[in-house]
Amino acid sequence: MYTSLKKHLTAELQSIEEAGLYKKERIIASSQSAEIEVGGKTVLNFCANNYLGLSNNARIIEAAKKAMDTHGFGMSSVRFICGTQDIHKELEAAVSKYFKTEDTILYAACFDANGGVFEPLFSEEDAIISDSLNHASIIDGVRLSKAKRYRYANADMNELENCLKEAQAQRFRIVVTDGVFSMDGNVAPLDKICDLAEKYDALVMVDECHSAGVVGKTGRGVNELFDIYGRIDIHTGTLGKAFGGGIGGFTTGRREIIDLLRQRSRPYLFSNSIPPAIVGASLELFKMLDESDDLHTALVENVEYFRSKMLAAGFDIKPAQSAICAVMLYDAKLSQDFAASMLDEGIYVTGFYYPVVPKGQARIRVQLSAAHNKTHLDKCINAFIKTGKRLSVI
Ligand SMILES: *Cc1c(COP(=O)(O)O)cnc(C)c1O
Repeated sequence: MYTSLKKHLTAELQSIEEAGLYKKERIIASSQSAEIEVGGKTVLNFCANNYLGLSNNARIIEAAKKAMDTHGFGMSSVRFICGTQDIHKELEAAVSKYFKTEDTILYAACFDANGGVFEPLFSEEDAIISDSLNHASIIDGVRLSKAKRYRYANADMNELENCLKEAQAQRFRIVVTDGVFSMDGNVAPLDKICDLAEKYDALVMVDECHSAGVVGKTGRGVNELFDIYGRIDIHTGTLGKAFGGGIGGFTTGRREIIDLLRQRSRPYLFSNSIPPAIVGASLELFKMLDESDDLHTALVENVEYFRSKMLAAGFDIKPAQSAICAVMLYDAKLSQDFAASMLDEGIYVTGFYYPVVPKGQARIRVQLSAAHNKTHLDKCINAFIKTGKRLSVI
């Protein structure tokens, strides 16, 4: 049997390779940080989701070790059988406090949070209205529910309004959007989305993976940025980006919604509990964020510094209020040559092109971090300028 499948897979892999879409993984021989070891060389990392620079934080590592000493290594259980420890409940409370929501449910990843949120809440009588650039896990989660699906062009409020009008035929309606879209770094206009949702009697859900810890005056996410506390019904998020970069996800929001998810959400009911080390580390992380906004302040300063220097150098950067800077090159091959040349200069960035972004919209995506210092930023900017001149981009 495998002989014919193998032949098929070999051809499939070859076509991926020929299309230039084969994803090769670079091997990092150090911890995740601003400076990493890649291929025997130290390079500056500008493509991690390590927004607050916590992936390698000593206090968090210590908390993870401590939690293993007090609470062991693994849970060997789902939450509702014998997989809930005191610290799981403490972490859920810490997330609720951070977002000012009523309750929180933990998942193994945000992919699971998004995969398990729609099916228990919405049926064929209901409508899910989704932004066209929403994350793959939202798309998959929506597919698992029987609700009627609507899609609007990225952040297009006219199209959203039309969807909402059409969806009046359904029982319940929910608008779902990423908080920050990962390819352009743009923030969803959640103030306007909330206004429309109120006008057309719809719920609002936001995926905060790239917005929590990043946007808003102190990094508290879209609620803080738009001052819309109490107007968003469901937030999903990850512990794998700004919040330490380990693993884990959560859904936080209205009490009854979270309660029902504990009863019916399949990735919660049928998958293992988050291990104590992650939970203990995450508790320390929210304590740190509660004590001080310094990391967020450093991140914002880095973003502003980088953006202003790059714009002054003549680069075309998408306007964004997040820690993602899309340096537009438009041409696919140029984006690859550019990224390769940056690596030669000791800067690790990624070039994205079709189908990850629309045709003719190739770019280098730069992700800033609180872990970057001025020397790192200047080195990156200078490498951009040198490569940009060499490749006639600026
Ligand atoms: C990264 C990401 C996810 C997945 O989060 P994990 O915790 O890594 O599974 C979901 N949604 C968005 C918008 C993301 O950027």
